[in-house]
Amino acid sequence: MNFNGFSFDDGTRSLLEELDRASRVPHAVIIESPDSEKAMQAAVFLSMYALCDRDEKPCGECKNCLNAKNRAHPDVTYLTLQAKKTVYTVEQMRDLIKDAYILPNEANAKAYIFENCDERLSVQAQNTFLKLSEEPPPNVFFILLCRSAQSLLDTILSRFTVIRLKGDKALDKELLTAARDIAGSITENREYPLLKALNALTDKEKACDILSAVKLILRDALVILSGGEARTDEEAALKLAGRLTKSKLIEMIELCDSSSVNIKQNANINLLTTRMCGEFRRITWQR
Ligand SMILES: [Zn+2]
Repeated sequence: MNFNGFSFDDGTRSLLEELDRASRVPHAVIIESPDSEKAMQAAVFLSMYALCDRDEKPCGECKNCLNAKNRAHPDVTYLTLQAKKTVYTVEQMRDLIKDAYILPNEANAKAYIFENCDERLSVQAQNTFLKLSEEPPPNVFFILLCRSAQSLLDTILSRFTVIRLKGDKALDKELLTAARDIAGSITENREYPLLKALNALTDKEKACDILSAVKLILRDALVILSGGEARTDEEAALKLAGRLTKSKLIEMIELCDSSSVNIKQNANINLLTTRMCGEFRRITWQR
């Protein structure tokens, strides 16, 4: 395995090497990491592994490796969300299943990469997907990325190999407290507590992490409204679920997503938090 250009921690590296030595690199893998970029790196690496034509995979040098590394290989599909959707649709999964049985274009294998599965892979989509993994087409690799594999169905977990990456950006206490303060003040009558809580969004990286955690709480509230249980913070989620409808929660999750994108594009964080505050309140109070 050529790890050039990849900065995996020792544990991940030796796990990958061990799987390779035993010729057990799985065709269905879940990469679990609190750090989505690290998880994506591992997914790119596995897609190179899947497609490389040399004996020692991934060589990092052949055309398949290079294109896969640049995320520009026709046989590697990064499943994206359809317009205005926050989850992968069942229709999309059905199309993917059909596509998986079509022979690859350039390499001898294909790979499908699903990002952010905790949030995007709905139960319906997982069930559709299960039909495929019962009878998987040969030389097709499925790579699912998530923060916590716990969010996926047991039936999925039993068919996939879970690779846990050590992340230094775990949902730490400070992050969760900040997220809980924000989520907890969204539905307050007064504007001040929310503005104050949003002050925790200081530097770029921290702000994105906190917003991801806020999303987990909003998502928890959605799960509660659907009869499920909260995973991240029950108290904050119950409060939201008591006040907001599903569509309002979805709108707020989208607000967190678009704000994260803006932050990554170097938007002024002060202006952005003021705008977010206004948007959260508009969504809360609109009829
Ligand atoms: Zn190669």
